[in-house]
Amino acid sequence: MKITAIETSVIRVPNAPPMSTFYATCVYVVVRIKSDQGIEGLGYTMLMNGAGVGAVRSYIEQNLVPLMIGQDPKAIGHLWQKMYENDRGIRKKGIPVYAISAIDIGLWDLLGKFVGKPLWQLWGSYADHAPVYGSGGFMSYTVDELIEEAEGFRAQGVKHYKMKIGHQNIMKDVERVGALRKALGDDMAIMVDANQRWDVPTNIKVANRIAQYDIYWYEEPVLADNIEQCATVARSIPIPVATGENEYTRYGFRDLIDHKAAHFLNPDIQRCGGFSEALKISHLASAYDLPIAPHLVPELSIHLLVSIPNGSFVECLTGSPPDLWVHPLQYNNGTLSPALRPGHGMEFNPEIVKRFSD
Ligand SMILES: [Mg+2]
Repeated sequence: MKITAIETSVIRVPNAPPMSTFYATCVYVVVRIKSDQGIEGLGYTMLMNGAGVGAVRSYIEQNLVPLMIGQDPKAIGHLWQKMYENDRGIRKKGIPVYAISAIDIGLWDLLGKFVGKPLWQLWGSYADHAPVYGSGGFMSYTVDELIEEAEGFRAQGVKHYKMKIGHQNIMKDVERVGALRKALGDDMAIMVDANQRWDVPTNIKVANRIAQYDIYWYEEPVLADNIEQCATVARSIPIPVATGENEYTRYGFRDLIDHKAAHFLNPDIQRCGGFSEALKISHLASAYDLPIAPHLVPELSIHLLVSIPNGSFVECLTGSPPDLWVHPLQYNNGTLSPALRPGHGMEFNPEIVKRFSD
């Protein structure tokens, strides 16, 4: 089998309120990998509000597609290394790894379709479903919106909910976390996510004040570039730290693990290097008994989560149109099951594509 063409496109999907008060759109850079046997692989990477979309698409088209044409799409390991090693003048962090991820996801989808198996079955599964955590809780929400969103997840059987923190006045965050805990009672776990907004002393101060509300994890305390500082926070606060959505490849995660920077790792399949690299990262972490809770893209993350011994949660955001996919995701009592269709099993709804494509 040979790759004959790779087509790229961009889909700008508007989010519903209240999520749209913080992120107006989820923008997908899509690749369609065509083969001479008529099988097509769908890959994509999603960027919140579309930051970097032009650069990712251009890197795919100019740097990666020429390497792929005429190659055997089944040789994913070979092709991944080819993409990774193509240009040693660009370090593989950020934009180039988003681009590699999109192609890698498309290659795995194509291979799954070629052998007629869903990816999680191809990889040898540990389970056929995984628990979900509800995510959102943006800083633009009122406290009532925060509580309403968490209660909405709980009504679907979800037992963990994540909210954002990071106001300039830290007492505002302490109060919001306290109000949410009071409204939810004790039977729903709360995670908080600082999205790299604070320095080490501020994080320690905040963590010490909200620890009384029984916080499950404390995510991305400091700038993702500064692993040493994340490790300092992890050592200093009474709440387990989670991080990794802005880390790339097995090398980046090796550094997080070496520094003992987190208790939960959050690789993002469409950023960290695709399924290929997310599997390597997960296996590396399993040797340290570190749980993997992938960042976003539940429809892809679930394939990984049920295929590793150290999978924990799927992250689920509300806000995207319910008809984004041809086959809606299969949630059941706070869990998600992976598709039984070959490959990753996902396809964008053609109506959505028509309405929101560039
Ligand atoms: Mg996060």
